[in-house]
Amino acid sequence: MCWEKIKKWLGIGGEGGTDTGTESGTGESRPLVILHPEESFDPNATVASVTPLVPDIITKWLTDWKVPSKHWNYWRTMIDVQITDQYPDWVLNQPDFDPNTPAFTYGQGGIRHIISKPGWFNPGVVAHEQAHNSYDLLSESKKNRFVTAYQAVRDTDPLIQYLYSINPYGLTNDIEGHADVYRYLCQQMPSSIKQFYPKLL
Ligand SMILES: [Zn+2]
Repeated sequence: MCWEKIKKWLGIGGEGGTDTGTESGTGESRPLVILHPEESFDPNATVASVTPLVPDIITKWLTDWKVPSKHWNYWRTMIDVQITDQYPDWVLNQPDFDPNTPAFTYGQGGIRHIISKPGWFNPGVVAHEQAHNSYDLLSESKKNRFVTAYQAVRDTDPLIQYLYSINPYGLTNDIEGHADVYRYLCQQMPSSIKQFYPKLL
């Protein structure tokens, strides 16, 4: 889930299938399989129970999404993570912000932050939010190049089309698409857009 208005001035992202089929004809042979299906909400999770597990959950994301090990220290130390039941007032006071948003990420004071509800803080949500933080590392010209490259595959790549047929959240905008393609497909994304995921692929 993301929150478009504040994103414009702070640089925010925020969060958000399972199944199989068969693909043909892109030049890249990839089965129609969602590599990382969505994890379910954990209704029993609390701030007290999840906060101590943050490093372990991040390690599970680093491992399962095969983040290059030379970047593990970056992701472990450069992103501030907070688990909370209620978002800060400055977030809640924004028009159109849904207080049930599972998680979001933003930049403030030169630091990237992730804030998440405890029941949603799982490796897939971490992957989505870290994709926003990776996107933030791109230069403006490279962000523009991403849009061009992404739009070229968004409506034609069978695996992306398959993903969006299951979960269309990535169609919200190109930045959410950037995050969800990483979250669900990771290495299975089209090779033409892998260069737009610094420190992740
Ligand atoms: Zn997002």
